[in-house]
Amino acid sequence: MVVGNLRPATVTVDLAAIRHNVSEEIARLDGHTEMFAVVKADGYGHGAVPVAQACAEAGATGFCVALLDEALELRAAHFTQPILVLGITPANEAAIAAANDVSLTFGTLDWLKDAQADLAAHAHRNLKVHIALDTGMGRIGFREEDDLAAAAQYLTAHADSFTTEGVFTHFATADEKDTTYFHAQAKRFNELVAVLPKRPRYVHVSNSATSLWHAACNGNMIRFGVAIYGLNPSGRGIPEVPYPLQPALSLTSELTFVKQLHQGDAVSYGATYHASGDEWIGTIPLGYADGWLRRLQGFHVLVNGALCEIVGRVCMDQFMVRLPNKVPVGTKVTLVGSDQGTTISMQDVADYSRTIHYELCCILTQRLPRRYINQ
Ligand SMILES: *Cc1c(COP(=O)(O)O)cnc(C)c1O
Repeated sequence: MVVGNLRPATVTVDLAAIRHNVSEEIARLDGHTEMFAVVKADGYGHGAVPVAQACAEAGATGFCVALLDEALELRAAHFTQPILVLGITPANEAAIAAANDVSLTFGTLDWLKDAQADLAAHAHRNLKVHIALDTGMGRIGFREEDDLAAAAQYLTAHADSFTTEGVFTHFATADEKDTTYFHAQAKRFNELVAVLPKRPRYVHVSNSATSLWHAACNGNMIRFGVAIYGLNPSGRGIPEVPYPLQPALSLTSELTFVKQLHQGDAVSYGATYHASGDEWIGTIPLGYADGWLRRLQGFHVLVNGALCEIVGRVCMDQFMVRLPNKVPVGTKVTLVGSDQGTTISMQDVADYSRTIHYELCCILTQRLPRRYINQ
């Protein structure tokens, strides 16, 4: 994928903000609880390797990713910490994971048997595994005591092939004010863990929301994700956080074209916007191909600290804004971040586009270069 290094449109990631968010959370953990930094999906769009480095510097002792490929990216970058793949990896990739000391997640006995076959076919390497328990997320993991007991028995009988490194679950509602479902899941987790002959090294349940708001449940490792990047996992649902989260990402560009329109002149595809008088219109060189959604028409950006409305449809590579007055080409535009005391947050963009900041970070495409500050 081509990276637009010669175009003025950049994602800037403040690594000091990442270190701040990580070290503030680690300071709240009790002494026997570790933080694994969740850097899946290229570090929620921030860049997995630089983010992982910043998290390690701030005290994270391991990493979680979604895909085995993402784990291998970290290994290629010479991270030696434990890495857990949170999703289900095809069992016939078990030997690759073992060869790279990557821990895999499973939730059926069949997966273990298939992984065992793959390990045997590749000279019996030992694979670290985490047992996923489905306590109400309805995504992956054991749901019944009997199935879990059978898998535990298999692991005991195949200790040469498998190291049972962890057991975990994932909460569906840890970011909500009503804690009823959360506590039902926590109770079910304890029931299922009790089936195991012994507790593995890592017993873990906490995403960001759980660790921020239900720290008593943490177990001895947390899978800290979105809050690393300075984003509140609840969106606006639970504004109270134990320490101020510092958003790490900003998105900036420049005006590449500025012109005056007159009453009735139209802007962009479909001619959906018409100037209501003499208006200065600026063009910004990014669009939905960069992850700046088409539905952001009517939202705003910052130019010289002033909010400027996005007028006309957002195009694939460009969009237009109405300026308060004539502004020179080359003037900085802030799409996400702060300018002269005014801020547009990822949450603001999420509210307008009726999604969540998680999704918006992930869909900023690779065409936007990532620049790192405060390394
Ligand atoms: C993505 C993910 C996390 C991290 O969630 P955040 O809400 O970003 O903290 C933790 N655990 C699992 C299983 C996940 O899939």
